[in-house]
Amino acid sequence: MSALLEAIRDEADVFVGLRREIHRHPELAFQEHRTAALVADRLAEWGYTVARGVGGTGVVGTLKRGSGPRRLGLRADMDALPIDEATGRDWSSENAGVMHACGHDGHTAMLLAAAHHLATRGRFSGTLNLVFQPAEEGGGGALRMMSDGLFDRHPCDAIFAMHNMPGIAQGRLVLREGAAMASSDYATITLTGAGGHGAMPHKATDAVVAAASIVMALQTIVSRNIDPLQMAVITVGALRAGKANNVIPASATLEISVRSLDREVRATLERRIKSLVTAQAESFGVRAEIDWRPGYAVLVNTPAETAFAREVALELLGPERVTLQGPALTASEDFAFMLERVPGSYVLIGNGDGEHAGACMVHNPGYDFNDDNLAVGAAYWVLLAERFLRAEGDTATR
Ligand SMILES: [Zn+2]
Ligand SMILES: [Zn+2]
Repeated sequence: MSALLEAIRDEADVFVGLRREIHRHPELAFQEHRTAALVADRLAEWGYTVARGVGGTGVVGTLKRGSGPRRLGLRADMDALPIDEATGRDWSSENAGVMHACGHDGHTAMLLAAAHHLATRGRFSGTLNLVFQPAEEGGGGALRMMSDGLFDRHPCDAIFAMHNMPGIAQGRLVLREGAAMASSDYATITLTGAGGHGAMPHKATDAVVAAASIVMALQTIVSRNIDPLQMAVITVGALRAGKANNVIPASATLEISVRSLDREVRATLERRIKSLVTAQAESFGVRAEIDWRPGYAVLVNTPAETAFAREVALELLGPERVTLQGPALTASEDFAFMLERVPGSYVLIGNGDGEHAGACMVHNPGYDFNDDNLAVGAAYWVLLAERFLRAEGDTATR
């Protein structure tokens, strides 16, 4: 274990307390007022220049040291989920129906622990931007911060983020170059025909039959229009039509979600879904309206920054606790938008596996962030910052 990790482990207790304090007071997307105030107050106390209210409830802490020209961004998310907590922990949520079930309390605390260490003992030269974003869980807080001028006001040459992952050994770091997390898009398809008596189908235009045909036809897009070596998912998650067995309903509605790991595949899926639905509906004499709602983009880790992050992880933990190229995930993450603007890399940190409590999956009422990761995550951030913003003449290993 590196000396840096040991030093941070010695000071981790206070941040475990802080993590549990945040856990006790979870807040939903764009309502992270208490959490944002806690973050901003701490950063200001430690000497950071603090921008509050960026993109709603986002916070950016900036620390400039020396004359280094490089500018680094490190990002954590702060929001919780609408889930009733069932962990039974002493630090369980005090906000009924709201819970930190994705570990964003831990991400925030890890970055704060690193912020403290870097402010008091960090050896770096350059500009450090710590980005605490709201609303990762579907709200698109990253985009909101960006449209509020995040990177214009706080330019970054590279940006990095971290997420815990149950099912992976505690503290293991998993990196990946290239597409790492899926895009997610949504559509509501409304089919309108003409209702009628169930006994006289020839006098109606049946939206149900059209909907059924479209459900089946949609699945041919993945099997016939997408390269078999590429990932694509089209899921019809809801199909609503009719109320009675002897009435042909006038309309039917489909709710679909669409995922991919490639920007071109994503565009092909959208184009094919729209044309197939329109043509299928027309063939049944039914009108189709498609409300297409783009969600998060494909998260693509850039090669140079991923290579750099791998070196940092290896220096900190050694090869036995680092996966250099992990598998891609079909989940989505709005850090993808930041990576469309600034190069960088997203790393996973194992929350625990096997029988360990940390193996409970995120978004589950029994999930809790693994506090043993606070020191590991914070040490990774500190070392990454010190290596990226290497002070002149600093050749020391840590
Ligand atoms: Zn989540
Ligand atoms: Zn999350």
